Amino acid sequence: MPIFEYKCKECGHVTSFLEKHNTRQAHVCEKCGSHDTEKALSTFAAKSGNSSSSSSCPTGTCPLS
Ligand SMILES: [Zn+2]
Repeated sequence: MPIFEYKCKECGHVTSFLEKHNTRQAHVCEKCGSHDTEKALSTFAAKSGNSSSSSSCPTGTCPLS
C-alpha cells in the first residue's frame, strides 16, 4: 500500500497518508487542519536512494531487507 506525503502550505507540516486504490480521501493537515496541501516526495523513496549509510537491517531480521 503506497504511502504519500502531503506538505501543508499553511504551516509546513508534512502528513503521511496511506492511499487505497478506490478511496479518495481528503488530504488535510493533521496539525492545523488546512486543506491547502501539496504532494511531497515520500521519505521511503528518499531513503532508498541513500544506500551509502545504514541501509541494512541492524538485527538482520527485517522482512524488507
Ligand atoms: Zn498545516
